[in-house]
Amino acid sequence: MRALVVVNAAGPWVDEVRRLDDARAEPLLRRTKGTHVVVPRHRLGNSYAVTLTSPIDGRVMFVLPWGDQSYIGTTDTDQGGAPDDVRATGDDVVYLLRSANAFFPQARLAPGDVVSTWAGLRPLLAPAHSGAASEVSREHRVVDSPSGLITIAGGKLTTFRVMAQDVVDRAADRLHELDGRPRAPRPRTDRLALPGGEAADLEVLVEAARARGASETTARHLVASYGSESAGVLNLADRDRPLGQPIVLGRPEIWAEATYAVEREMALRLTDVLMRRLHLFHEDRHQASGAAPRVAERMAELLGWDGARAAEELEAYGQEVERSRAFLQEVARAGRP
Ligand SMILES: Cc1cc2nc3c(=O)[nH]c(=O)nc-3n(C[C@H](O)[C@H](O)[C@H](O)COP(=O)(O)OP(=O)(O)OC[C@H]3O[C@@H](n4cnc5c(N)ncnc54)[C@H](O)[C@@H]3O)c2cc1C
Repeated sequence: MRALVVVNAAGPWVDEVRRLDDARAEPLLRRTKGTHVVVPRHRLGNSYAVTLTSPIDGRVMFVLPWGDQSYIGTTDTDQGGAPDDVRATGDDVVYLLRSANAFFPQARLAPGDVVSTWAGLRPLLAPAHSGAASEVSREHRVVDSPSGLITIAGGKLTTFRVMAQDVVDRAADRLHELDGRPRAPRPRTDRLALPGGEAADLEVLVEAARARGASETTARHLVASYGSESAGVLNLADRDRPLGQPIVLGRPEIWAEATYAVEREMALRLTDVLMRRLHLFHEDRHQASGAAPRVAERMAELLGWDGARAAEELEAYGQEVERSRAFLQEVARAGRP
């Protein structure tokens, strides 16, 4: 593959990608690990987001409602290992549950109550001096390598627009230097709605979805997830009625969403659909293990997978489920309740 400009926007992996370009490239990041646990919301009883201070170490934490579940996070610890190997450990889970139990004493959450977990590495900029993980800068930097590779490192989800603007401006400057092409005038992206975000009144969209036959919970779920694009999901169900059925009985997600994820949201793996698009991995109390084979079948039809590929996808999904629950063995070995 050849390109005039190459941008490295690999998040916590940017240093690995920089080393593909230059084996001696200095690391830009000091990565810290964060873990979340998902628990049944009725145990905590929170309808809204709650900020609390952990009595264990005084860190600020969040308990956020997520459908029938709530998630508790996060930890913030230094992590030297590879981003691919990160998972919730027994210590992480016990810390989060103990912190939440101190604030919600009636919840009495135990490791066995955890529906799912996830952990990741924050791509934080390496500081000039070492300090506590939570004190590391959340700012971002755009760095040019001698080869011409442009790397965007650091930042946060909440600063994605300014990060994108800075890195695209740098790439545009480079193209201008290379072949003299004019720099684009000031883009309008900070004034454009994100896809599905055009509507101000979501209740109108919920009513429209109800009028097209969606149940109340499915209508609310579709509008919360897709905004005005919920109409596009329902169009699929209009054309093929079974796509209007729930993927997991009793839950709001419908089969049309799996099709939409593949056709409109570039989902290529079973994990893309169940973890990163529909979140059934986190929200369903069985982590969609029962539905996964049928979702794989549906994806096989859409993407032309053969039986072996579908089996591989199921295997990979099962491994993610196991990884998210591996903490249970550590907790049991440590003899914790
Ligand atoms: C536990 C945790 C909690 C957080 N909480 C918050 C929060 O509350 N608020 C907030 O604003 N931010 C939060 N963040 C930070 C936020 O998630 C990151 O700053 C943000 O995701 C960075 O975006 P990015 O696009 O740079 O990287 P990413 O979102 O990580 O995207 C990088 C992409 O590059 C891909 N990639 C990697 N290597 C390659 C390769 N060789 N080839 C092709 N693709 C590759 C990866 O698969 C990935 O999709 C949190 C992070 C963690 C881990």
